[in-house]
Parts: sequence; C-alpha cells; structure tokens
Amino acid sequence: MTIESRRLWFGGDLVKACDAHIPVVAATAQFGLNVFEGLRAYWNDDDSVLRIFRLDDHLRRLKESCLLLDLELPYTEDEILSAIEAVVAANGYAEDLAVRVTVLVAEEGSWSSVGPTEMFVAPIPRPRKLTPLREGVAACVSSWERIDDRSFPPLAKVGANYMNGRYAHLEAQRTGYDLPILLNRHGTVAEGAGACLFGVRNGRLITPDLASSILDSITRDTIFVLADRLGFEIEARPVLRSELYLCDELFLCGSAAEVTPVTSVDRRTIGSGLAGDITSFLHCEYLDVVDGKSADTPEHWLTAIATI
Ligand code: PMP
Repeated sequence: MTIESRRLWFGGDLVKACDAHIPVVAATAQFGLNVFEGLRAYWNDDDSVLRIFRLDDHLRRLKESCLLLDLELPYTEDEILSAIEAVVAANGYAEDLAVRVTVLVAEEGSWSSVGPTEMFVAPIPRPRKLTPLREGVAACVSSWERIDDRSFPPLAKVGANYMNGRYAHLEAQRTGYDLPILLNRHGTVAEGAGACLFGVRNGRLITPDLASSILDSITRDTIFVLADRLGFEIEARPVLRSELYLCDELFLCGSAAEVTPVTSVDRRTIGSGLAGDITSFLHCEYLDVVDGKSADTPEHWLTAIATI
C-alpha cells in the first residue's frame, strides 16, 4: 500500500496518510509533546478474526500518560475502539498489524502547552515473529543511562522520552551490537530501548522492578501471567549488570519485540548462545495467547474487531 492509498484516522476523520498534516510549529513537532500507545492486532487464519491484544490495558496506560503530562485524552475508550475499527476497515487490512494511537498537541505552542489535544490512529501491517529467533540478538550495556522518575518519568509513554533510547540504540549499532540494555541511575538494569528484559537464572525468572526506571510494560505483565501458569517463580527486583552475564537465558519483551532472545551481552555468551528453552516456550505460549488459541486467556485480553 502506498502513502497515496493508505488511510489514517485523524481528529475524527479518515484521511489519506499524505493528507494528515500538522503545522510545523505544533508543540508535538517541535518538542515531542505527544503520548502514544503501540498496540498489536493479530489475524487468526483459522477463524478469520482480527484481535487486538490487551486493548483496555493499553488505553489505561494512554490515559495515565496523559495524566502525567497534564494533557487531556480527547476521546473515550469506546470512541478510540471505533476509530481503530474504522481505519482498519478503511484500509481493508486482514493481517497482523501494529497500531499506533497517538494523542498530540497539534497546534502552535511551546513545551508547556496543555492543549488542545487531538489524536491519530495509524495501523501498519507487521507480521508476528513466527518462530523464536534461534540466534537471538547481541546486546551491549549502554553507556547511556535510562531516564529517571526525577527527570523524565519512564512510566509515561511520551514521544520525547524516546530520544533516550535513540542515543543508546544508535551507539549500540555503531559499535557493532544489535541493541542496547540501559542501566538506571542506581546502576542496576532498567530495560532495552523499547522493550523490557527478563533473565532466567537457576530456573527462576528475574526482571527489573517498576522502580528500576522501566515502562510498565503490558507484555512484561503477560509474561508474569504465562510464567506463573507454567509454574515458574518470578522475581521482580533490582537486577545487577553482572547478573546478566550469569543468566542461563535472557530475553526482551514488548508489543513490538514480542519475545526476543538475547544470546550475548557485551560479547559474553548467554547460556548456550542460542535461544533458551524457556524463552522459546514462552514465545510460543505468547503467540497462542495473542491468537486466541489458548483456552486460559482472560476474555478481556482479546478484542475481536470488525475488519470490513
Ligand atoms: N519499554 C519501552 C521504553 C517501550 O517503548 C516499550 C514498548 N512500548 C516497552 C518497554 C514494552 O512495553 P509493552 O509491552 O507495553 O509494549
């Protein structure tokens, strides 16, 4: 699909992507004054249904990000769901999608503007990672520190916060790694540039706690539920950098990352150097859940949407 034919939902209208304009002097353009969510919707070939994963949790976080930034969420949850349905149908999508829902200050203003806010919804085809990436990714511990609650609250999903991940990501790529892992102000592990981190050590899952400068990741919460169901113990606590090197398995998780094995950190091999068994198992369980194929999935996690 070209930019000519692709449709977005912007301010209540379905518009061609090439016609969705904001002024260059808008606060969102100049200062990154926007909050957003990155949802996934998964197409199930067996029943030909597109399901959004954990929509209500993403919308709760969107509302919380607005609250933290003193911005108004300009639409109700029902209106946002209708907007998503309308734009998916307008594009005729019947496939796995990533859906960006962004609330922005689209008028001329400064970084201290408190509105008015507007919203756009932008779906884009994004296939799931079908099988766990066996070779995994090579991570480094970044020289950049993760943003902190005393300066840029990591709990708010704000466009401007992503410049922190950008520094770390570009440094990692420039120095020959796939991606970075950031430490926080206390020197313990925070997260990846756009995904949370789990380790497996002596059969237990460990992950940095909320006070470790992480986003309150919905996928991380999903992993808690799946791991608990499978009988694994989970420790959410400060995690030391040196513990990463001692893990048998490591993986990143997020709506975009799904479950991504990390098989080396700072060129130190993790476990066997290939995706671990627990990581691969959780990846498959995750895909079953998002696809509506797992009997134990809480009903409110999956929102089937009309696609025509
Ligand atoms: N941390 C950051 C900084 C992120 O941008 C994301 C992706 N939204 C995550 C973690 C993972 O969050 P979620 O599982 O809710 O997608």
